[in-house]
Amino acid sequence: LPNSIEARDVAYHLHSYTDARKHEEAGPLIMERGEGIHVYDNNGKRYIEGMAGLWSVALGFGEKRLADAAMRQMEKLPYYHTFTHKGHGPSAELAEKLVSMAPVPMSKAYFTNSGSEANDTAIKLIWYRSNALDQPQRKKIISRVKGYHGVTLAAASLTGLPNNHRSFDLPMDGVLHTTCPHYRTMKKDGESEADFASRCAADLEEMIVREGPETIAAFFAEPVMGAGGVIVPPQGYWEAVQPVLKKHGILFVADEVICGFGRTGRMFGTETFNLEPDIMTLSKQLSSSYMPISALLVNENVYGPVADESARIGVWGHGYTGSGHPVAAAVALENLKIIEERDLVAHVQAISPRFMERLNQLGAHGLAVEARGIGLIGAVEFAHESLPNAGALGGRINKAMQERGLISRNMGDALAFCPPLIILEKQVDEMFDLAEAAVADVAGEIG
Ligand code: PLP
Repeated sequence: LPNSIEARDVAYHLHSYTDARKHEEAGPLIMERGEGIHVYDNNGKRYIEGMAGLWSVALGFGEKRLADAAMRQMEKLPYYHTFTHKGHGPSAELAEKLVSMAPVPMSKAYFTNSGSEANDTAIKLIWYRSNALDQPQRKKIISRVKGYHGVTLAAASLTGLPNNHRSFDLPMDGVLHTTCPHYRTMKKDGESEADFASRCAADLEEMIVREGPETIAAFFAEPVMGAGGVIVPPQGYWEAVQPVLKKHGILFVADEVICGFGRTGRMFGTETFNLEPDIMTLSKQLSSSYMPISALLVNENVYGPVADESARIGVWGHGYTGSGHPVAAAVALENLKIIEERDLVAHVQAISPRFMERLNQLGAHGLAVEARGIGLIGAVEFAHESLPNAGALGGRINKAMQERGLISRNMGDALAFCPPLIILEKQVDEMFDLAEAAVADVAGEIG
């Protein structure tokens, strides 16, 4: 229909992560409303949102308390900024809340609007600190192949995925990517998981030594890689990597944008893996994505020199119009309150065994090559010789799941599962029943 939402969408809207010329042929899927773990499209078809949107809608769709919190703040003070010594209640309260929740000592919270901006801001803080410490040569940043840290110029450079670099002239100079800790695909013949974990740390150290340790400022990593395919690091990985960073005086930035607020079965991935980051970047489940907001937590090691430098030059010359937006901050505060009141971290721990059992069952299908996951995040990777191009089989399965009423996401041939944290055990079963049926559909088609 010429005037339908679909037609107008095709005509006017350039979509993210979409082949622009194929958008019409693929047919836009227009979502209209949501309730709990479900979303409904504009034809009234119901889907289980198996990705919690973009790994983010912790409380599910339709949590009225978040809407009420937004409305209250809208009516009281819809906007104020946080520049030049000014502020407001919600940002002060949220900063205090996040510092108090941090699993390692953190000094300050800084607010941004997206995960990408949080990581860009982290790089700027780190560079500013190097200048403050009179180490202007210490500017290089190491992240990992298949890591995902966002899409702004610096964050896209940190990201270690070809789609985020190709045709953008990225990564920018001074950003290096070390080994992806994916045991199945990266191990050498006969290498044990423990040996592989040690080798990842050795690769990192070799890169640091080759480049000159005095030139490396920071290492960025997700506790569990998300968009790179849900890669849970092998046993011993973090225990081996962190001492290398410490030895060479390199800051550690834990990108908790997906892992933060319960996803891995602890409040933060930092706790699940005993990390000691200097900076944590947070977003997504911080507000259940009801409002765009992100934050950085910085420890004294970072904050001290940054404060000294801004005193010396008179300003920390950074900030966004939306930094600490009062409506977004009020929603985040209410969201965190609900996560704590309902003890969703304990809920994730209670549900995770069933989630992992069903994930592994799907991973035992003839088309599957691996299941991997932790807490309430997982992926099953598939392969078939008739569809050798990366993503061809994954795309087929993803489409079959959508037809069956399940939203997943294929990262290449790995299908991800990251439902709202409020999911119930019987809904975990429903989700994987749909996934199994969809895989059976595709298996039937390709024989
Ligand atoms: N970091 C991680 C780990 C992410 O998964 C994402 C987004 O998926 C980002 C950063 C970027 O966040 P945003 O899309 O809000 O810029």
